Order: sequence, then structure tokens, then C-alpha cells
Amino acid sequence: MIPILMMLACMPAPQPLSKAQLREAVGIAEGQDPDALLAQVISLVEAHEKEDPVRHPGGPHRRINGTAWVFDRFTELGLEPWIEETDADGEYPITNVLAEIPGKSKEIVYVTSHHDVWYTPADDNTSGVVAMFAAVEAFLDEDLDRTVRFASFDQEETGLRGSNYHYRNTDLDDVVAVVNMDAIAYADRSPGSQSSPTGFSTPDVADFIAVIGNQPAKDLLYWSTQLGPELPHPLHVIAVYGVGDNDKYLLQDLHRSDQSMAWFEGIPAAFLTDTTNFRSSLYHTEGDTVDSLDPRFFAGSTELVIALAWAAQVQR
Ligand SMILES: [Zn+2]
Repeated sequence: MIPILMMLACMPAPQPLSKAQLREAVGIAEGQDPDALLAQVISLVEAHEKEDPVRHPGGPHRRINGTAWVFDRFTELGLEPWIEETDADGEYPITNVLAEIPGKSKEIVYVTSHHDVWYTPADDNTSGVVAMFAAVEAFLDEDLDRTVRFASFDQEETGLRGSNYHYRNTDLDDVVAVVNMDAIAYADRSPGSQSSPTGFSTPDVADFIAVIGNQPAKDLLYWSTQLGPELPHPLHVIAVYGVGDNDKYLLQDLHRSDQSMAWFEGIPAAFLTDTTNFRSSLYHTEGDTVDSLDPRFFAGSTELVIALAWAAQVQR
């Protein structure tokens, strides 16, 4: 059975990936080495550790060295990143970093994560940034149908400020999909390790990745459930549809990352997450270290990011 939690019954059916499309997307995602991914996490965590934090009410907040690390990594991989910045938010300056790999059409698929952090955490969201770069590497030498734009947002932790600024100041007419990652490397395979937000029912073992979407993202969600078991590091995927554009107060937990702003623009957007505090006591603490990550799970979730973004850039 395809594990989709349906919040609303009357919606158009998704268009599944064909067997050939599935094989192609999984093929692009092959070759992810858990140790190499963790080495990237360690590198970015070490960059965070060298920065003096700004003390906000939520804790020590770091963003400067993460911004530089992301910019340098894009450059190392041969892309030409650009900066989007503003001081309009006073004590919350924003420096987003973007880069893209052009495709044949003018349509754009976004792959996004955030590089600002509380403390110096591995899961939230160094894991997401590292997965984004795994997608860059996987796509670099491929012929893309659609342009893939990679966006590393700033000031997510202080209220989705970086993505808010971006989505409100960008021409979004050609944007056809968003794949956003926020904390995708923590798992716990013991019974009773998973809890859920009010109104949701999830398995009680914290070994799945949640892929949360608005209704326009129905294909992305369905494809995630098709891709999960086929990946080199097979992944249990739970797809979650919200109501409408998830604009109901009941669903505020679903809005806790940068795809929220894309939902409000009506763009199909999928949010990949290990659900953080619904399975981990380390969320937003000093305990969110690389040792606490699950390398096999992280490799699988990274493969899902790549395969899903690949499927989204194929012109249909
Ligand atoms: Zn986060």
C-alpha cells in the first residue's frame, strides 16, 4: 500500500512515474557514500564552530560561516553562485546564496535548504545543505530539461526570513516545483521512538522520512513514495498532504521550513524532513552532533532528494 495520509479525499489523482522514469531517477541518485556525506557534514559543522554566535531568544545563532561555506562549495563545483541580501530586517540581516544549472526550457525547479543554525547542528540543517550539494554533483554533467536552481536560505531559524524575502522578491512565473530539505539525517529504529503532531497518525518507529506537500505537489509526493523503496539505500517514505495550501492553523507544524513561502505562492512544493522534535530530544540543542546521525538513513534521504529533483526537472 502506498503510505499516503490523505487529509482530503476529493483531489485529482497524481501522475505516477513510469517504470522507465523511476529507473532513470534512481540511477541518477546512485553512488552516494554515507561516509563521504558525513565528511561534508563535519566540514560545515566545523565552519559553524569557528563563528561567534549572536544570542537570540531561541539560543546561539550562527549564519556567517555557513554562508561562506555554501558560496565556496558552489564555486568549487564550478557553478557561479550569487548572493541575495538585505538589512531591511534590522537585527536579522539576510544573505541567501543561489546557483543554478541551466536546462533546455525556461522552467525552473528549486532545490532548497537553509544554512543558518542554532548551536552548531549536524541534522538541522547541515544535513539538508549537504544533500543539496549532492544533488548539484549528481546533476553537473547531465542534460537537464528544466533549469535547476539551488537556493541556500539564511535566517530560516529566526522566522523563515530568508525564504520569505526570496519568494516575495523573485519572478516565480516559471517555477514549477520546489524540493526543500530541513533536517533529514536523524532516525531511531526503536519502537515508540516517533510521535506526531495533533491530528496526525504516523508509524511509531522513527525510521521514515516525511515528505510534506501542498495539493499542487501531489505528483512530487506520490513520486517520493514510489522512489523510496527503489533507492540504493531504501527509504521508508511517509507522504503527507495538507489541506488546500496548508494555510490552516491546525497544520502550523507543517509550515516550519522554507517551503512554506512557496506554498503561499501556490507553487508545488515538497518538504523533506525527519520530523526533528517528533523523534529527537536533540533538536535545537548542543546534542545535535554528527555522531547522532544515522548514516544509512542519511544516504537514503539524500538519494531521495536527488531522484525527486531529477524527476521534477524532466519535461513532461
Ligand atoms: Zn531547520
